[in-house]
Amino acid sequence: MASGSCACKYIQYKTSKSPTRLVNCHCIECRKQSGAPYLSFVHFPTSSVNWETDPTVWKSSDKASRTFCPRCGSVLSMNLDNEPDTTAIAAGTLDDDNSSIPTPSAHIFLAEKASWFQVPDDGAERWE
Ligand SMILES: [Zn+2]
Ligand SMILES: [Zn+2]
Repeated sequence: MASGSCACKYIQYKTSKSPTRLVNCHCIECRKQSGAPYLSFVHFPTSSVNWETDPTVWKSSDKASRTFCPRCGSVLSMNLDNEPDTTAIAAGTLDDDNSSIPTPSAHIFLAEKASWFQVPDDGAERWE
């Protein structure tokens, strides 16, 4: 249903289902790990995501784990410990031929948003 990879293509994945939603996360960890004002995540059922090579896992807090490519550093995914059935895939790693990707439904963690970034008036929900 969807496929993607890191920048150097060492890590590749395929999903057997369509994503359920897309959120833009403005939290400090997403900003730091991506080097961008926010990270877009598409949510897939964890059982539907097949990694051809497993990415490196970073236990980023006592609530979440994040993954990245050990060769090129691309951010790949995040899992919340209390929501093991959902895998949030970094949307920028998806291949361009995915027509099933939803538009953003929410901007989250706006309390930690970069002061220089203006959230677009795109109709998505806004959560502090
Ligand atoms: Zn890579
Ligand atoms: Zn975040």
